[in-house]
Amino acid sequence: MYIHFLGTGTGGSTGSRRWRAANLVDTGEHLVVVDCGVGCHYRLSDRGLLTEVDYVFITHGHMDHFLGLPEALFQAYVEGRKKPLRIFAPPPVEEVAKIVASHFVAEVAPAPYKISLHRVSPGVLLDLPGLRVEAAEACHHTAKEAYGFRLRAGVDVLFSGDTAPQCESLRRLGAGVDVAVLEATCNEENKELCRRYAHSTTLEALAEGEAMKAGELVLTHIDDRLNPTIYQDVKKANRPVLVAEDNMMIRL
Ligand SMILES: [Zn+2]
Repeated sequence: MYIHFLGTGTGGSTGSRRWRAANLVDTGEHLVVVDCGVGCHYRLSDRGLLTEVDYVFITHGHMDHFLGLPEALFQAYVEGRKKPLRIFAPPPVEEVAKIVASHFVAEVAPAPYKISLHRVSPGVLLDLPGLRVEAAEACHHTAKEAYGFRLRAGVDVLFSGDTAPQCESLRRLGAGVDVAVLEATCNEENKELCRRYAHSTTLEALAEGEAMKAGELVLTHIDDRLNPTIYQDVKKANRPVLVAEDNMMIRL
């Protein structure tokens, strides 16, 4: 299995070093996108995979996690996509995807490829040979609904999405996971700000990884202005921790 970190930034990220949140999981059999912030279609297109992705899972309806989706749906058509696409998203994103999908059929091209939309709720969302996806609520009160996802595909991977720390539902979902991909928006200096917006600091994310007894930890959703010390702070962990960078790929 491979995880590609397509975008490792936040809603507050400036410049182009870290793009908005997006990840790609390649199980060898299935291609799964988790969040699709702006720019996500470029990163998928660069890899020749925009026409090949099977599933998209969106953690929550904040713009840095889904605004790339409409463009990805359109660009996939431009690149000749024929394969059906299944999108799992909470309500506000579902609405946007519906509008884009119906615009396709009505105005761009009659049924270029099939898009099916599924609402995310806690529990198992997908259970196929070689891929099982389960959702649990994240603790991100600034969004109406927010979820983390656990993907089981030989290797178990948790994506926390955006969340405040000590989130019991996510801890349960991530218990014993092989790899936990956790958000680390802030450093300790900006902890209060992060608390207000229901995000986590590097040290809090490390503690969550410990609480889940995760095998490997990867930190993402990094705001370079609010968390300029992430590479120093991960040294405080008593084991290796990966700090995700855009276009980084890991093999599991
Ligand atoms: Zn958010």
